[in-house]
Order: sequence, then C-alpha cells, then structure tokens
Amino acid sequence: MNVLVINSGSSSLKFQLMDTAENKVSAKGICERVGVDGVFTYTGGNTQFKDKPMDIPGHEDAIKIVIATLTDAETGVIKSLDCIGAVGHRVVNGSEKHTGSALLDDKEIEYLGTITKLAPLHSPAILRGIKACKKIMPGIPQVGVFDTSFHATIPDYSYIYPLPYEIYSEKKIRRYGFHGTSHNYVTGEAAKFLGRDIKDLKIVSCHLGSGSSITAVDGGRSVDTTMGFTPLEGLMMGTRCGTIDPAIVTYLINEEGMDPKEVEDMMNKRSGLIGVSGVSNDWRDVCDAAKQGDKRAILAQKMLSTQIKKYIGAYAAVMGGINVLLFTAGMGENSYELRKLVCTGMEYLGIKIDDRKNQNFERGANLNLSAPGSAVQTLIIPTDEEYMIARETVRTIAV
Ligand code: AMP
Repeated sequence: MNVLVINSGSSSLKFQLMDTAENKVSAKGICERVGVDGVFTYTGGNTQFKDKPMDIPGHEDAIKIVIATLTDAETGVIKSLDCIGAVGHRVVNGSEKHTGSALLDDKEIEYLGTITKLAPLHSPAILRGIKACKKIMPGIPQVGVFDTSFHATIPDYSYIYPLPYEIYSEKKIRRYGFHGTSHNYVTGEAAKFLGRDIKDLKIVSCHLGSGSSITAVDGGRSVDTTMGFTPLEGLMMGTRCGTIDPAIVTYLINEEGMDPKEVEDMMNKRSGLIGVSGVSNDWRDVCDAAKQGDKRAILAQKMLSTQIKKYIGAYAAVMGGINVLLFTAGMGENSYELRKLVCTGMEYLGIKIDDRKNQNFERGANLNLSAPGSAVQTLIIPTDEEYMIARETVRTIAV
C-alpha cells in the first residue's frame, strides 16, 4: 500500500510517500516557509529539486502542491490520488486518551482541536495539515500517530508532577513524553539487531537531535522519559533550555520585569546550545568552535554530555540495570565526539566502547560500538520515524 506520511510544522510540511509492501520510499520532500515566501524541495522518480520558490500561503496549498507533484506525468510517482491507500500524520500530543494510533474521523479531529493547548507550539499546525488532507483527499483514511502514545506505559509515580494533585486530575498537567515513535522504532530495531527478545532487555534510548530526549525502555515498555508536559523538559537542546529550576521563570517575571511570552520564547528559542555557547544551535558548529578553544562552546559540550550521563545513571537505577545503551537522531547517530564524551567514565555501569568503532562508523547503518567484555551493548541505531508512522498507519486501518 502507498502511505503518504505527513509531518506538519508551523511554517513547513514534510512528506514521504512509502510503498509499505516493498518497504521503500517512492518520493519525499518538504514545503518550507509556508505563509511567508514558500519554497519546495522534492525527490521522486527521476526528479529532484531544492528550494524551488512557490506560492504556499497555507497548509492546504502545501498539500495541493504535494499531490499535484506526486501525480504529475513528469515529476510524479503515482497516476492519481486513488493510488494513495492512507495518510499517516505525525501528531505531537494525543493526551491520555490515545495510548495507540487512531483513525482520524470527524469526531476525532474535533477532539484534537480541543487539546491543541497541550502543545501550543506544534498542534495548531498539525491540525491544519490534517484538515487540509481531509478536504483534499476526502475518501482516503487518515491516521494519527502520536509522539506520546509509546509513553502511555510510564507509571503514575513517574508521570505525575509533585504539584497539588488537582493540577493533574483536573487540568491533565502531567508528563506525556515525546519522540515516542522514534524510541519505539529504535528499541525494536536494537533487539532485532542483537538477536534478542526485547522483553529481556533494559534499554536506555538516547534520541539526540535538535530536540533531544532519553527514554528508559524495560522489556519493550517505556517506563520513564526526560521530556514532560511539553518537549521543553529534560536535556538542554539546540535552542531549548530543558530542565531548569522553575523558580527562575517566576523570578524573571516578578523581579526582572520580563514578559511571560518573552521568557517562554527565551526558553524555547534562545537557550540550550545556542544560549550557552553563543555560537550556534547546531552541534557541529559548537564542536568546531570548541576545537578552536572557544570556552563557552566547550562549556556547552560538557553541560550536554554530563546531563546525558546523569540520565543514563538515573534510568539504570529506575530499571534496576541496563543491558543496552543506544544512540539515535542527528547527533546520536553522527557525532562520535558526543558518544565519546558520554561514554567516558561510565565503565562502572558496564559501558565500555571501542573508540575505533566509534570513530569509523558507517553513516545510516546499525553498529555495535561495545568493546570486548562490555556488559552493556552500546549501539548506534538510525531512527526512521516516517517508516514507523507508515507501518502504524497500515496497522491502524487494518483493525
Ligand atoms: P536532527 O534534529 O535529528 O536532524 O539533528 C540535528 C543535530 O544533529 C544538529 O545539532 C546537528 O549538528 C547534528 N548533526 C547532524 N549531522 C551531524 C554530523 N555529521 N556530526 C555531528 N553532528 C551532526
């Protein structure tokens, strides 16, 4: 079946057409600067172009462009819309209701509209993408695959915040966790790669990209994760601060006269790697500056790697041990520096890596970095959220 996977952002719409029977990507691309001065990047069949200027005033226009390109005699890879069996949408927060993927009928779309406030930076755009697909492809089933559902197995003592209980019971403010589709995929792949039953594994899964999270996966079930009510909690990220003392927020507002919106903006867009280093939100740039001796870049590297170490230790404690440590996403897959910084000094937990393997990894391939005799298997497992969304979409419409 051809599944169109859609990942809508506030000013972008990423897509991938997957042939799930052949397990192959037929076409992919991204509409960017939606609502500004649109550009379109596409790869499909014999056609490839990057940042082609297009008029893309909204998400509906973006979907129309995608469909027209996919079905065009020259650029396309399918004859008509009828060749698309289903559309799978990445949805950031599905609330407590969604412990698995869901068919997005009118009632469900209406429900998603009532919970956009749970992820105000992401959900409105996702909903616009879903509504646009529904309008343009009315007969084609739409499925929501939620970043939060993999974390539905986290126990209450780890998802409830120590605030008055009503904050959870009435306002549904709790840890939801994110990147669930990625953690679910890579931990499943890790078990396959090792030839082990996932039920027997205690995995610490490190998704380290421009957004980062770490999840403790015990026997295939998420039991704790670093992101919380929003994707702002946990590790410092490219531009996000991660966990800080919450009193800093009220201090900045009450004592320093900052506007709440300004503080929110600072924590989401001007903190993390860019905030600390002052160099860039991109890890590669931070590493380059650190090599030149830039003190704040070195500080940012140390802060991030130390935070990751702390969570590995914490999650080993939560699970009563660790057999597998895995790295995925942009930095996790590609930065031997970060893996080295993290794994150095972790021998006490049974984590010993072979530095040659760590440096000579093949991009995009699974790899076991462990040194002989290491009790913990340290792996690189490239993530593939689009594949997982397509697989979930097929599974959901078959039910
Ligand atoms: P993602 O959000 O998963 O695309 O990850 C983006 C992050 O991965 C950025 O901080 C990049 O600097 C980092 N990254 C991507 N490629 C590399 C690479 N080859 N070496 C080091 N870091 C990389």
